[in-house]
Amino acid sequence: MFEEFLKTFDEISKIGWDENNGVNRVALTKFDLEARNRIISKLHEINAEINFDDAGNIYGSIGRNEGMITIGSHMDSVPNGGRFDGMYGVISGLEILRLYSKEKLNEKLVLVDFTNEEGSRWQPDLQGSGLATGVFDKNFIYSRTDSDGLKFGDVLKESKFLGQEENRIKNMHPDYYIEPHIEQGPVLEKEKYEIGIPLGIVTDVVDIYTFMGESNQAGPTPMDMRKDALVAASKFIYKINEIANTLAPRIVMTVGEIKILPNVYSVIPQIVELKLDIRSPEKDLAYEEKKIAHELAQEIANEKNVSLKIKNGWALDTINFNEDLIKIIEKSCKDLNLKYKFMYSWATHDAMNMNKITDTAMIMIPSHNGRSHTKEEFSSDSDMVNGLKVLKKTVEYLL
Ligand SMILES: [Zn+2]
Repeated sequence: MFEEFLKTFDEISKIGWDENNGVNRVALTKFDLEARNRIISKLHEINAEINFDDAGNIYGSIGRNEGMITIGSHMDSVPNGGRFDGMYGVISGLEILRLYSKEKLNEKLVLVDFTNEEGSRWQPDLQGSGLATGVFDKNFIYSRTDSDGLKFGDVLKESKFLGQEENRIKNMHPDYYIEPHIEQGPVLEKEKYEIGIPLGIVTDVVDIYTFMGESNQAGPTPMDMRKDALVAASKFIYKINEIANTLAPRIVMTVGEIKILPNVYSVIPQIVELKLDIRSPEKDLAYEEKKIAHELAQEIANEKNVSLKIKNGWALDTINFNEDLIKIIEKSCKDLNLKYKFMYSWATHDAMNMNKITDTAMIMIPSHNGRSHTKEEFSSDSDMVNGLKVLKKTVEYLL
C-alpha cells in the first residue's frame, strides 16, 4: 500500500506543478479542477460512492453506515505553493479507502476534499469546511468575489462540482474527523520527531493599525518638522518583534501586510495601514499582548507626532482537539515505535471547523527546513509513510 500511496501522491500532487513556479492549483482554477477529476477517477476505481455538497466539497465513501470515520484535507494551493500542503491529507485518506475497499466494512469511511481551504482566490479561508459545518452561511460564501470580480457561487455553478446542501458533512453526522497534514514549521525536524500530535490550534488575533501623519515634499521639509507615518509604523513593527522575541516560543507576532499612502519616494508618507497578527496557544497571553501592542502604538504615535486609529480585525480563540482521539493517535505512534511530540498547530486547518461538529484530531509530519507555501516545501517519503502508518493504525482502533 505504501508504494501505491507514494505513486498516487506523486501523480496528483504534480498537477499544476512546475519547477520554477511551484504549484498553482488555486481553488476552482484549471489545475484544481484537474486534480478533482483525477481524485474522482481514483475513487471510481475502488467503487466508492461520490457526492458533492453546495460548497463543491468532494466526498468519497465506502462501507455501510454503522459509524462513520471521515479523513481529509484540501487539494487547492496558494499561488506558487508547495506539493505537500493539503494534498498529503487527501491522498493519505484515499489510500485508507483503497485499503478497505476490498473488505465488507460495517462502518463508513469517507474521504473529503474541502474547497478553497487556502482562501487565496476568495476570502476568508476554510470556505468549503466552513459552509459544510455551518460556520459560514451560504449567501456570504457565494457572494465572495475573486480579484477578477467573479463570485464564488457563479464559478462553482459553472464547474461541475456544485452539489446539494443535504450532502454537507454536518448532515452526515460523522463520528470522527482525522486530518493528516505537514507541519509547515521547523520544529519536528529540528527536534528529530517523526510525528506531531496537535493538541489543538492556537489563538489568532489580528488588528488593523492606521498611523496618520502629513504628506509633504521630501526635500524642503526639515527633519524636525515632519509627521512621518511610516517612521512611526516602522518603530512599532520593530518593537513588536522585540517583544515577541522575549516571549518566544510562547507567542509569535507578525506584521506581514502594510499599505503606504501615497507610496511615492519623494513624498513623506501620510498614511500607513498595517495588520498585526498575534498567535499563541495561550489565549490570555495573546489578548494581553494585543493590549500591550495598542498601548505601544499609541506611545509611538505621540512621540512621532502622528495620530492613530486601531480597529479590531478578527480573532479565533484556541481550540482543543478531542482528547480520546489524541490518545488513540498516541497509542498508534507507540505501537509503531515512532517518536512523537504533542504540539499546537500554529496555522488554521479545516480541522478547526470540523472540531465544531465531531471528534477531531490531526496527524502531523515533518516539513523539511520548515518551509511551506513555497516550491521548496518538502516532506520525505519515509515521513509521509510514517504518517500514513499512524493513520492506518488509528483507523484500525476506531473501526
Ligand atoms: Zn493545508
